[in-house]
Amino acid sequence: MYRYVFGPVPSRRLGKSLGVNVVPLKYCNFNCIYCQLGRTRHVINDLRMFYPPEDIIKEMEVVVRARNYDYLTFIGDGEPTLYAGLGKLIQWARNNQDRPLAILTNGAKLIDEEVRSWLSELDVVKVSTDAGSERTFRLINRPHREITFDRFIEGIERFREVFSGQIWTEVMLVKGINDNEEEMERIGEALRRYRPIGSI
Ligand code: SF4
Repeated sequence: MYRYVFGPVPSRRLGKSLGVNVVPLKYCNFNCIYCQLGRTRHVINDLRMFYPPEDIIKEMEVVVRARNYDYLTFIGDGEPTLYAGLGKLIQWARNNQDRPLAILTNGAKLIDEEVRSWLSELDVVKVSTDAGSERTFRLINRPHREITFDRFIEGIERFREVFSGQIWTEVMLVKGINDNEEEMERIGEALRRYRPIGSI
């Protein structure tokens, strides 16, 4: 019935999560080996106006009034921070409904000041940190060529400096790649750089 807004769906961390999907299938700046959506067809790292923000807002206007939910969560069938209209949607959600706002992102666009400023309006930002070194980062996340491991962590670190909400992190352990003690120690070092409130 709706094109962009779905749910609420039960989430272990977010309770009843009303999702807003802002990116078409597999436009992402990563190509993770474990991605449940399959191989990334469009490996991009620039912001794109995939849909008119007004169309998404029109749906949100109806659905937030009709449904009961704990969090309004921005996601994508790829990486949601690649959507150029995201800042507008976050502003609308902040001003027009009263539930906390979250995003599920890989975190790589946080190196971009504009994206940091959009996401600083949220309550929860869930990023991924599957690697503690450039080599493992390339093996697991297979990022766009512009993205290096150091810049990736630096972006989240910079965001930490301006963000008063919660940063959550997700660490996907892949057998034989990042599940050894040395890499886990390095992942721990990366997490200490941006201090999430918890990791799963
Ligand atoms: S960042 Fe997310 S959407 Fe992109 S490839 Fe990795 S798991 Fe898939």
